[in-house]
Order: sequence, then C-alpha cells, then structure tokens
Amino acid sequence: MNEVKVVSFDAEGTLVTPDFSYAIWFEAIPVRYAERNGIDFETARKAIEDEYRKVGDQRLEWYDIRYWFEKLDLGIPDPVMERCVSKVRYYPEVKEVLESLSGRYELVVASGSTRDFLHHLLQDIEPYFTKIFSSLTDYKQLKTSEFYLKLCQDMGVKPGQIVHVGDNWQFDFVAPREVGIQAFYLDRKGQTDHQDSVTSLLQFRAHLAD
Ligand SMILES: [Mg+2]
Repeated sequence: MNEVKVVSFDAEGTLVTPDFSYAIWFEAIPVRYAERNGIDFETARKAIEDEYRKVGDQRLEWYDIRYWFEKLDLGIPDPVMERCVSKVRYYPEVKEVLESLSGRYELVVASGSTRDFLHHLLQDIEPYFTKIFSSLTDYKQLKTSEFYLKLCQDMGVKPGQIVHVGDNWQFDFVAPREVGIQAFYLDRKGQTDHQDSVTSLLQFRAHLAD
C-alpha cells in the first residue's frame, strides 16, 4: 500500500467502546425524564425507547442529542454528557496502533457521531488526528459515499490514497468502497468470514504494512 497517505477511522465501536453513548441514551436520559415527569425509571426507559424506535436510525434526528433534549423537554444536554465522561473507554490496542501509525500516515476520524459526542469520545486521543469529520454535524448526512468523497476533497487526496476502517458494514465498508476507498470491516467478534474483515486494529495495521 505504497500510495496510502491517509488512514481513516470510525469512532464508536472502532476506537472507543459504546459505553459512553449507552450511558447517555439508556441511562442518563431516562433518569432525567423520570425525574422531570415524576415516574419510575423503568417506565421512563420504556417510554424513551419507544420514542427512539419511532424515529429510527435512518433519520438524522436519531443521532442528535439536542433534538432529543428539546423534544423530551429535558433542558440542556451538556451537563448530562459531562457526568457520563467517566464511561469513555478505548479498545485496548487503540493507543498503540495510533502511536505507531501517526508517524507514517495522516490519521483522521470519519464518524457518524455528532460533534457533541466526538468532543467527549475522542478526548484522550484527539492529538493523533489531523482532522475529525462528523458526517452529521459537518455535512448533515449519514456516512454515505458522498461523505467519503467530500472527505477526500477536504484532505486533498484521491480515494486510492485513503484506507478506512470501521465496524459498520454499510457505513464503513460499502459506502467508502463505492467511491474507490480501500476499506476494512472491523468485526471484533470475528463472526464474518470476509477477506477484508479484521478482528482488531492490530490486524488492520498488519494489512497496511502489506
Ligand atoms: Mg462505529
């Protein structure tokens, strides 16, 4: 992979575990909703999950914490997010891999999370990255092939000069490939038998050295 200049990483499920987001969506928000409406936690959690389902993950609002706080009349999200920061956890190999790749390539994050989340999610590893892209905040879209093309333009490189890795088959593997970006599917559970799937970022790094 001689001509690779940029290595692009998804954030959640790839660099950082889902714990922080889970704590916000399924714990902190229901707790606040329960308090504000004088109901118990379980009732609140069920009501909130129903609301999430009605919107669904194909709509942009699903990912937008400010939309939810407004819709559910929960005040402002920032203090709630601050309180969950101790839940931010990186996968064990992340720092080692970023450290070793950062001298050889430009590293970027290409995430579907909003900047509200990325700000917290990447707090300890942000210095490794030249640029952090949020498809939702920056381009008002999910991670489509168009998003990846814009990322190439922004970085001033051709699709063939980027390699991307992430844990969502559609958003991290299919979409970047459609525009000619080499992509690897990160399947940490190792359930996929595909030549371009990897079970950790260490395995991904080994492919880069090929
Ligand atoms: Mg992900």
